[in-house]
Order: sequence, then structure tokens, then C-alpha cells
Amino acid sequence: MKQNYKYIFGPVPSRRFGLSLGIDLLGSKICSMDCIYCEVGRTSNLTMKRDEYVPAGEVLDELRNFLETNSEKPDYITFSGMGEPTLHSGIGYIIDRIHEMTDIPVCVLTNSTTITNEEVFNALLRADVVVPSLDALNSNSIKKLNKPVEGLDFTKIVEKLSEFKKAFKGRLLIEILFVKGINDNESELEVLTKAVNIIHPDGLQIHTVARPSMSGHADPVSDEFLEYARNYFSISSSKIDDFNKINKNNFITDEDLIVSLLKVRSCHFQEILDSTGITEVKLKKLLDGLNNKGEIRKINFNDITYYKITGSK
Ligand code: SF4
Repeated sequence: MKQNYKYIFGPVPSRRFGLSLGIDLLGSKICSMDCIYCEVGRTSNLTMKRDEYVPAGEVLDELRNFLETNSEKPDYITFSGMGEPTLHSGIGYIIDRIHEMTDIPVCVLTNSTTITNEEVFNALLRADVVVPSLDALNSNSIKKLNKPVEGLDFTKIVEKLSEFKKAFKGRLLIEILFVKGINDNESELEVLTKAVNIIHPDGLQIHTVARPSMSGHADPVSDEFLEYARNYFSISSSKIDDFNKINKNNFITDEDLIVSLLKVRSCHFQEILDSTGITEVKLKKLLDGLNNKGEIRKINFNDITYYKITGSK
């Protein structure tokens, strides 16, 4: 029997990984950064403290239930959610149990800050794909863009990512998000290129703000700048993922999963339709119902209306 989900959401229509079933290991906005472009919202607990923020057993029960009640499989199971997933002290254990449960590859999106912690380093080795983000390395840009906890040593973080790449059997993709007026400059491109050359990832994901920020104001850079940045990195272009391809699929899902998805990220009408089995009529009814109850917020971004559950961090 299907249950109401608290920790899993989606499947998220991901431009990177096709249909990605998300797992939130935090329950509220807990992160070591407070990025101005964050789609989730402002960080309420800015911390490097690792803890069992949500019960690992309950997360695994939900996932088991999802896999048993949905015949179609997502392309990836992705740890992302409300904040920095590696702050959950049981992430390595949870990844191991998922591998026992299914052959769906496990992906972890991380902001890189915890990679210097040996437990996190070892936990991430158990994933199939790890995507650490590295938006800026000049301290002024980092402070404006990512607003991390005090005392992080980004030189050490880059060294650890390089060490991780050597030990990791999966795919390591470095993600860089450019925001207009902050990290879209030569000096940042230069230091980021050096870092990429040290880390030697399997690929780069270079992109810009594509959804409304729930945490501040962040403007996207132009397509021309993105193209310029892609050419700047001395890594073969085949290793730079195209961020504009959305894999469409007719995944069977239900309204609860759509609601959980809209708690962690804003989506527009068409992308929900494209990534789920819900009909247009049902989706309209669901969104109207949430709107009438005041539970949903509509945000206009690039002339498109996005929906996000209100009150979710
Ligand atoms: S974008 Fe990621 S790293 Fe930045 S505040 Fe949001 S959850 Fe944290």
C-alpha cells in the first residue's frame, strides 16, 4: 500500500539525470551554506554539525514502499532535498542499504564543504555519481554567493576533491553555477579552471540560475557568457554536460509525490506534466485546490509561472 511520503520526493524532472527520485535527509533547511540562488529557501540552521536529522530507518521504509508500489523505475535516486545531505550522519549506511534494495544508481549532490571530513569522504565513495558544487573560489565571491559557515578552507576542499576523484569508482561531476555580477568574471574563471585541473573530474556541469530563488535575488548570466565559460575550461567539451536537455518520461506518480516535490523546489506546470503520469486536468485541479487553501505560492520567473508549496523551507 502506498503511504504519504515525508522524505522522498519527485521524481524530479532533472536536466542532468532524467527522472530522479529525490531523498531529503534533513527535514528542514539545514546547510553549511546559504546561497543566494537556493531554490529551497533561506538556511535556518547554518552548520557543519553532522547528525541523524531524520531517522534513517524511516527514510529506507519510504523508499522501499515507493519501489514496491511503482512498477516504473526512476533513472536515479538522488540525495538533495532541503539542504546539504552529507550533514546526515547516516548517509553512508543509507547508501549501502539502497544498493541492497535496488540496482538504481545513487547520486549525491553536495556543496563540497564536508568532503574534508573522513566519514563523509568514505560515505560518498559508496555512491555511483557524486556532484560537488564549486561556484567560486575568490573569498569575496564566496561570501556574496554561497554565504558559508565561517572557517572553511577552500584550498583544502579542492585538494580533498582531487583525492576523492582518485579513490572513487563512480562518476564525479563538478557543478558550477554562474550568477550575473558575482562570479561571471575572468578572475573567477581563472581560479576555477585551476581547481578543475587539480580535481580532474569526469565532467563539468556549467549552468546558471534557471528557477526562482527562494533565498534572495540572483540573476542568470547570458547564454553567451555560459558558452564562453564552457570554452574556458580546459576539459574536453564532450565532458561538459548539456544542461538544456530534459528527458521526458511518463512516470507513474501520485499527488502526494508532486506535493513533496513542490516542497523542495518550484516547478512550472509543463515540467510536472512532462515528468509524471498525472493528467493535465488532475494537475490543474491539484494546483487550484492548493491555491484555494493558500498552500501554494506562484512565482513569475522569466515569464513562466512556477509553483512552490508555501511554508516549506
Ligand atoms: S543551494 Fe545547496 S548549498 Fe546552497 S544553500 Fe541551497 S541547499 Fe545549501
